[in-house]
Amino acid sequence: MCWIVEEKSVVTNMGKCSWGRCVFCGWGKREGKEKPDEVVEKFRRAIAQRPKRLKVFTSGSFFDDSQFPPWLRLWLAEYLDRSCVHELQLESLPDFVTYEKLQPFLRRSYELIMALGLEVADNYALKVLGKYPAMSVEKFISSALMLKNLGVKIKTYVLVNPPIENWRELMPKTVELALKYSDEVVLINTYPHSESPLFVMWVQGKWKPLSPEEFYEVVKPWLGDPRVQIDNSNFAFRPKFPKHMRKKIVGANEEALLHPYYEVWQYFFEHFYEPPKKKRILLFVPCSYRKPYYKSKTWRAIRRTLREIGMLRKVHMVAVSSPGVIPEEFANEYPFNAYDWPEWEETEEIKKRYIEVTKERVKRFLKAHAKHYDRILVYLKPDSESFKAVMEACRELGLRCEPCIKEEHYEEAKDFKPPVAHPKLLEDLKECLRKATSVRQ
Ligand code: SF4
Repeated sequence: MCWIVEEKSVVTNMGKCSWGRCVFCGWGKREGKEKPDEVVEKFRRAIAQRPKRLKVFTSGSFFDDSQFPPWLRLWLAEYLDRSCVHELQLESLPDFVTYEKLQPFLRRSYELIMALGLEVADNYALKVLGKYPAMSVEKFISSALMLKNLGVKIKTYVLVNPPIENWRELMPKTVELALKYSDEVVLINTYPHSESPLFVMWVQGKWKPLSPEEFYEVVKPWLGDPRVQIDNSNFAFRPKFPKHMRKKIVGANEEALLHPYYEVWQYFFEHFYEPPKKKRILLFVPCSYRKPYYKSKTWRAIRRTLREIGMLRKVHMVAVSSPGVIPEEFANEYPFNAYDWPEWEETEEIKKRYIEVTKERVKRFLKAHAKHYDRILVYLKPDSESFKAVMEACRELGLRCEPCIKEEHYEEAKDFKPPVAHPKLLEDLKECLRKATSVRQ
């Protein structure tokens, strides 16, 4: 036994998937810029770490000559024979998996595992997913049989929650077929890659990702099967708007308030987001005209105050604004760094709507995350719609949320620009935070 780590992954970024039409996949649409020599170096580095299993992710097909030069494959097949690697995992569409191409990898010191993206065992569903005819149930079976005959192991990817109406009904049949022909089956929670049509479907409200809890509920029947692996976050998931979808969202109106991009983020914060572990004091703060917020006078003054009392690392700043709630780590994400809510355009009616909508968003955030925090503090102008929305949300949830700004000080600071950066209000904030850390709830 000469390996020292269980596995190592090499993610290549060379060439382009010759299919590229799967609606759930963004990687297959990109043209990788890596040169073959750079890929060779990546392999050398990974193999030098002596993994038991070497996994190769190609965003396409390892056996496609237009993506991978044949010489690189032959080199790898041979090079691995003199390494500690015990299992080599490759991925490819079935059309490229031929005896001729597999041959250099057979009868080696390592085992070959072919990963096949079946996704769903139904040709109509595969058509809806844009994967048919690159993949079909028949192609999967015939490739699997051929591979088995050659002594190659099979790993099959199955999508949970693909954008198909009857995916839940198809799950048992898909997993059963995958298990019948595979040594390993991976159940993957479908996430919307940036630049995939699925991302647009999510923004349009035609599909949404499953939260980790919902996903585990679906895969429960297979959790005990040693052949089944679970992949709940196959990449660091967050809504990543591709460049062509990015535009500044401007206006103090219903359309801007309920913009679908904001809805996508609020859904993410509610279902996928986890607040920073060490930040146990939640501080609701205002947004700012200047973006990202942390460049504004308001945020700089608040952060300076937190630093002065040594609490910058303990306090989690969460902005309340027209996009909803925005945890500080996301201040420079699109669209939080590219929107304006011009207060001078506000009508009484839109202010009322703002309170209603924001209250619901704050409630959703608090329902999901309040248990993470020891204290909830509110550093918002007492006469602002955001303040009203937050306090109302807390009241309805039965949560104790403490306003940090004293009314009498606010009256004095009102004309200061911006009022929340007024020294008296910042003193209120300090006092509020000191109390919060010295008094147990
Ligand atoms: S899922 Fe695979 S076949 Fe489909 S576009 Fe992506 S890389 Fe290509």
